[in-house]
Amino acid sequence: MLESDLAVHRDYIPGNGRYIVTFGAFLVASGDQLVLLDAGLGPAAAADGVFRCSSADDASREAYGQLFRNFGRSEEYINGRLDDLSTQTVEYGMLASSLKAVGVDPRDITDVVFSHLHPDHVGWASADGSSYFSNANLWCHEADAEHFLGERAPDEAHYMAMYGVAPTKDRLLPVMNQLKTWDRDRSVAPGIDLRHVPGHTPGSSVCVISSNGERAIMMGDVVHCPLELTADEWSVMADVDPLLALKSKQALLPELEDGKVHIGSPHFAGLRYGRLLAQDDSRSWVWDEY
Ligand SMILES: [Zn+2]
Repeated sequence: MLESDLAVHRDYIPGNGRYIVTFGAFLVASGDQLVLLDAGLGPAAAADGVFRCSSADDASREAYGQLFRNFGRSEEYINGRLDDLSTQTVEYGMLASSLKAVGVDPRDITDVVFSHLHPDHVGWASADGSSYFSNANLWCHEADAEHFLGERAPDEAHYMAMYGVAPTKDRLLPVMNQLKTWDRDRSVAPGIDLRHVPGHTPGSSVCVISSNGERAIMMGDVVHCPLELTADEWSVMADVDPLLALKSKQALLPELEDGKVHIGSPHFAGLRYGRLLAQDDSRSWVWDEY
């Protein structure tokens, strides 16, 4: 890849071996509904809001190493990643103050849409064992409910090593009575439509937001950064089914590359949206200006 092609991505791939990622959520108003798209990592575990990965316990570090072993990486590579992990910090726990800043009480939220059920997307579902959005329907695709909440739920200990957060099951247990599953593409509010895009997880979805002739699409983890939209060979090693994830992403691309649809993800650095421009055989990325 040419350095000039990377320039627009330097905000989050600064070139020092680091990749900067956000764990966010989006609030969308539609009629008398207030819809939250994804729910981040949740309340911070530490008083200063910073999780230092060096404090992770041995069992979760081992689970983190196993993750790369499952992707066929060498022990040397894995040891390098574990060394890197020890230098990382994660700052989180800001959703409560962000909602307050826009005058929204968590009890005002009518719907929370989980793009999928990885622990970094359901964190605020509960806090201290109680429902955080106590009046909301909590939406997820049926296939993810089965995968993450069923008897054979995956071991998610590596999330403890990376972010200091509990597995999905623990976080959702107090709110199971609010969970609403869907198995066919559907709306949750006028102009807020869910589409099943499997691969990252069995029930991964995107959310299409339509308003006044414009469209935005919240990609969930179909991609984690815009580079995955401009270069097919890039992906994050977190897909349950990498081949299906690639196929699903490619099927979506034709409707994304018209230069008009605003594309975002809870992981895009700074939660910025942008657009995809197609030219000849290549695609380029441009950030939206606000
Ligand atoms: Zn994620």
